[in-house]
Order: sequence, then structure tokens, then C-alpha cells
Amino acid sequence: MAKATVKVRVPSVRVTSWNDADFNPQGCFVLYWMTASRRTTWNAALERSVELAKELRKSLLIVETLSSGSRWSSDRHHRFILQGMAENRASCEKHGIRYYPFVEHKQGTTADLVVALASHSCAVITDDFPMDSSTAEVSHVARQIGVRTECVDSNGLLPIRATDRVFPTAYAFRRFLQRSLPDHLPDPPAANPLARTNLPRLGGIPHEIRHRWPPASSKLLSADMAALARLPIDHAVHPVPFQGGASAARKTWKTFLKRKLANYPGDRNHPDADGTSGLSAYLHFGHISVHEVFRELAEADGWSPARVRGQATGKREGWWGMSEASEAFLDELVTWREVGFNMCSHAKNYFLYDSLPDWAKSTLAKHAADRREYVYTLEEFEQARTHDRLWNAAQNQLVCEGRMHNYMRMLWGKKILEWSAHPQEALDVMIELNNKYALDGQDPNSYSGIFWVLGRYDRPWGPERPIFGKVRYMSSENTARKLQLNQYLADYAPAGK
Ligand SMILES: Cc1cc2nc3c(=O)[nH]c(=O)nc-3n(C[C@H](O)[C@H](O)[C@H](O)COP(=O)(O)OP(=O)(O)OC[C@H]3O[C@@H](n4cnc5c(N)ncnc54)[C@H](O)[C@@H]3O)c2cc1C
Repeated sequence: MAKATVKVRVPSVRVTSWNDADFNPQGCFVLYWMTASRRTTWNAALERSVELAKELRKSLLIVETLSSGSRWSSDRHHRFILQGMAENRASCEKHGIRYYPFVEHKQGTTADLVVALASHSCAVITDDFPMDSSTAEVSHVARQIGVRTECVDSNGLLPIRATDRVFPTAYAFRRFLQRSLPDHLPDPPAANPLARTNLPRLGGIPHEIRHRWPPASSKLLSADMAALARLPIDHAVHPVPFQGGASAARKTWKTFLKRKLANYPGDRNHPDADGTSGLSAYLHFGHISVHEVFRELAEADGWSPARVRGQATGKREGWWGMSEASEAFLDELVTWREVGFNMCSHAKNYFLYDSLPDWAKSTLAKHAADRREYVYTLEEFEQARTHDRLWNAAQNQLVCEGRMHNYMRMLWGKKILEWSAHPQEALDVMIELNNKYALDGQDPNSYSGIFWVLGRYDRPWGPERPIFGKVRYMSSENTARKLQLNQYLADYAPAGK
């Protein structure tokens, strides 16, 4: 295979080769296998694919796949993703780029399709998403591919490979961000990599491939329930009333920016205030990019890099030189979101109990045999059958709407720890319920939040308590006193249960 040197604009720190193969100049197209950054804008993997296609003077083929093999694949998650796929198809059609949507009717067929397409391609580019299931699939496929295969990282403002250190606290990570971000902010992915590409249009997909792995039907792409019913996924987890896809993501973001951002510092902790962005599911499925959000936030704030305060102190406020509200939002969107990407990229055991800090494991072990006033099973938790009305309300919101307010999520997790027979069992319950029902589940943030309940990113707290030991404790009574919750309880636990 001929050697090829390809100059691209995408920073090399965002690009990782998954095999030793070279580009194949005899291939018909560059293949972009879209799995995580499910959008056609602000997408570094798509940008890299376009630039390779231009350099090699080949067509571009985008294949967006949806697996049915995840333990938590359900109507809820599939529908949200399919709504995004329909938009991606329209966007590619508008730009004259061939788009191939593939939804697994039989588990495991995605890999076969990608390997078959790769044999006709010059190179394969895919998304770098640091969840174990995603990296396992890419490595399984890359091993079978005879052309160069690259993963490209569009996840955060900080490229995940800008460091291989794992940060134990948000403070330490924030300090690192403050030192490093000025080098990376000038290189966001292109806002619209498909504009004016002038790439040769790909004639068609080989017949034997279309025949063996047919593209998703229009019915499926319209998230038709009868079409969904034929897929081997969990049909008991129902779709939610809000829409997936880039347009809905952008609308949600604009509403937050215009109407809610100014009050974010005061409102974000109050479930009744509806004061947060609601972006987490869109960020999780890649329907919106953190780079786009950051750019528009900075513009609205009249910000330029010159306003950054020079010193990397690790303090939450002041470094950006933006308004208090923008800085509070960025601390969640960048520090807290990306510390999770850092952990999942570099600590291979991020989902195991053993990954907790030593102080947390030791204090939880010391109190593992403490008497519990209430102990519930997974089924009782799942069906919101606890004695605590506030907890049941939170669980009901998760099951019905696929989301839960952040403050309630913290309380929800702390009580699962308190009412489980063992901390490891609490971890299993949290992972199962969060990932099964939350639209934004199976994300690095899921593991940050769940493990935070058990001490990750936190410090020891006194006084030492039963069950929790030195792990931070939360009570429903204090939460009810501190928060505006009347409407929340009326909506999600109306019978007073
Ligand atoms: C037990 C538990 C489980 C959680 N599971 C998930 C999950 O599965 N998926 C998920 O995205 N988040 C999870 N979180 C974090 C947080 O609750 C959600 O990110 C947030 O509630 C999403 O709402 P929003 O988009 O309106 O947030 P906003 O307040 O508008 O914040 C903007 C963005 O910043 C990020 N962010 C906000 N808060 C946090 C946080 N505490 N940690 C990490 N990132 C944050 C999210 O990407 C969010 O979309 C969990 C937290 C806990 C305590």
C-alpha cells in the first residue's frame, strides 16, 4: 500500500491511529464512521474526514451506526438518536454528501458492515469517545481493517490526550485547565466542515453491502414506534416527550442563553426553578458541541481571550474574566464535564468500585457492616417503593422523563448508598438505574456523578457517620428545607407516596 502524507488542520493531539495500516489511494472514498459526535457541525472527526478526502481527491461516505447490543439499548435512547440521524441525513443531502444510516436488527452486525465498507475505502475515521463499550467496538473493528483507521476527539475544549494524568479533584483539574486551555481554544473544530467541500459525489454503495446490511428505512428514521418494536432492544423504557437531534439541541441552548443563563448561579440548585440548560442528553449523543456552546456564550458575554486572568489558581471564579453567570455555567460545562472525560480516557477501571480513592474505600469498608434502618432491592428502588416521598419523586422523574435535576441526583445517589446492603451493591444499583433510564446515561458524566456519591472528586467529611463513614452525607429533610420543591413533589409524587 502506498505511503501518503496528509496535511490537515485538525490538531494532531485530537487524532489517534488505531492500526499500523496506511492510506489506500486505490480506495473509492474516505469513510467517516459516526458513533458519538452525531452532528455535521463543529465536528473534528468529520473535518478530518473532509480534509483527507480533499487531499486524496476522493468522495466522502458518512456511515452513522446505531447498535442494539448495549445492555441498556431501549426505545427511549434509540428514538432520541434516530431523530438526530434523520437530521444528519437531511444535512448531508443538502451538501451533496453520501450518508448511510445503519441500525442493527441483529446485534453485532455494525462491525461487519464497517469492515466491509472499509475494504472499499482509502481510510476510516471515527469518533473517539472514552467509554469502555465504545473503545472496545472500535478496537475490535480496527483489528480487521486493512486501511488506516483513526479516532478523532471532539469531546471537549481540552483534548483528552493533552495529558495522561488522572486528576483526583475538580480543583486540580481546573488548575490544569487554566494552564492548558489557552493553547487549545484557538483550534476549535470547523463550524461547518461540509460547506463548499466540492468533493466528488460517491456514485453508490456496492450492491452486496446494501443487500446484506440495508440502510435504515425512512420509517425507522422517523422513529416510528412500530419500526422500533422490531428491534432487539428494551421496549419497556418508553420514549420521552422531548426531541433529539441538532435542531432541538440548538433551540434548547438558545432558550437557556437568552432566558435562563443570567439567573443560573441562583437557580441551578432549585428543581422548581427549571434554571439549568437541559443540554446533557444533547451533549451526550453529540447533537451539540461544547465548542459551539462555548463560542456563543463567549460572544454573548463580549469575551475575548485577552480577558483571561493570567494566573492558574484553580479557583472557580474569575479566571475566564466573564460574568458570574457565564463562569458558573462554564465550571459545570467544562471543568465538571471534562474531568469525567479525563478519568474515563486514562483510568481503565473508571467504572469499577476499586477506582475510588483509598480514603473512601477504607471508610466505606469500615462501615460496611453497620446496621441499616432501611434496605431496598434493585426492584424496590426501580419502582420507587421506598418510605421517602422526595426520593420516590426523583426516581419517578427519572423513569418517566429520562432526566433528573442535579441536586436531586446527588440526594438520589446518597440515599441509595444509605439504603443498600453494601456500598458495592449501591454502586451497581446506581449504574443500572442511571444508565437504563437517563437519556444522558452511559456517559463519562454518569460515572463522575455516581462515583462522586461514593467519594470520587470529594474529600473526607466529619463527623464520621454510620454507613457513610467520612463520605459526604445528605439528608432528605435538609434538602427539602433548602430547595423549592412544592411543584416537584406535586408533579412526581402526587399521591404523597
Ligand atoms: C448520581 C449522579 C448521576 C449523574 N449522572 C449523569 C449522567 O448520566 N449524565 C450526565 O450528563 N450527567 C450526570 N450527572 C451530572 C449532572 O447531574 C448532569 O450533568 C446535569 O444535571 C445535567 O443537567 P443540565 O444539562 O441541565 O446541566 P447544566 O447545569 O445546565 O450544566 C451544563 C452541562 O454541564 C455538565 N454538568 C453539569 N453538572 C455536572 C456535574 N455535576 N458533573 C458533570 N458534568 C456536569 C453537563 O454536561 C451539563 O449538560 C450525574 C450526577 C449525579 C450526582
